[in-house]
Amino acid sequence: MHKFFKPKPRFGDSSVVTSSTNAQSESPHETPISPLIPPSIPNETNQKGIYLESDPEKRKQIIEYHPNDQDEVRRAYLLKEPTRIYMNDFSVNDTSGVNRKFSSTWYKEYDWLEYSIERNVVYYLPCYLFYDGAQSSQTTFVKEGFRSWHLKKSLKKHVGKNPNSHHNMCVKKCDDLLNQNRSIVASLSNYTEKEKYDYLIRLKASLENVKYLVRGGLAFRAHDESENSVYKGHFREFVEALRRNCEKIGEAIKNAKGNLKMTSPMIQKDLANACAVETVKKIVDEIGDDIFCVLVDESGDTSDNEQMVVVLHFVDNRGFVVERLIGIVHVEETSAITLKRGS
Ligand SMILES: [Zn+2]
Repeated sequence: MHKFFKPKPRFGDSSVVTSSTNAQSESPHETPISPLIPPSIPNETNQKGIYLESDPEKRKQIIEYHPNDQDEVRRAYLLKEPTRIYMNDFSVNDTSGVNRKFSSTWYKEYDWLEYSIERNVVYYLPCYLFYDGAQSSQTTFVKEGFRSWHLKKSLKKHVGKNPNSHHNMCVKKCDDLLNQNRSIVASLSNYTEKEKYDYLIRLKASLENVKYLVRGGLAFRAHDESENSVYKGHFREFVEALRRNCEKIGEAIKNAKGNLKMTSPMIQKDLANACAVETVKKIVDEIGDDIFCVLVDESGDTSDNEQMVVVLHFVDNRGFVVERLIGIVHVEETSAITLKRGS
């Protein structure tokens, strides 16, 4: 990944600043460059016609692009590399009242840092590329720009030590985006028609099991699901029964590679969640534009945890009063305001 972002002399090299008598090329030894003439960075249009604004300040947000184009735009910016201005002397615009300023050496300390010559602020490229408009606390390095030069440690704090920090997750997404082999489309294209067919058979078998268990309100799992277990839980036992009695499913499961059996607990949860989403959609369709009531009540379970139940109460098309259970949510307390927030 870092090979794309090695600081290159192109933004501060002699081709840009040769008009200045003080100008010198950016060298590996950090030779000072003209403090007077800020290097200009050309905007680009890549081979696919995507316009790439060099100044991060002037770019439009990724979410403003059409969803189908967003990954292409991200990839184009990643291949273009971060905008880095190399100057000996940056202007002072620190709000602290202390004469602090940005330094080109910070690029080495902080990967992905970009500089906007328009406003003399810095941004982080991955956070810009994967900003979804939701994380209001993460907009400094996406929208406003950072210029509290006296708080340099904030740059490090933003990155965070945790590999799952927001910033590090964005970096990982950039990494994945550049690695075409990991994309779902690329992965699917590597499968043969027979493998795709088998996958579909396994998925359908698992989904049928999930629908059956959800309708009956039955438990999916058992305390021992190992190969030698006498009873591996309803879900696995049902899959096993299908495998034994249906040749097509048996063959598809036999052909499954390693973790592609569609029986893992994560897959089970995923399928159950999909069923829940589809059920709620169906209920919402059933209500249509009619009037409905939301009934919210709480009760403690056997381990004294408060549970909140949400039920929709309405009259259907045939004139019958119907009540549909939407869900059960764990709540910290049962005051009216907490229940309102939880619902
Ligand atoms: Zn970031």
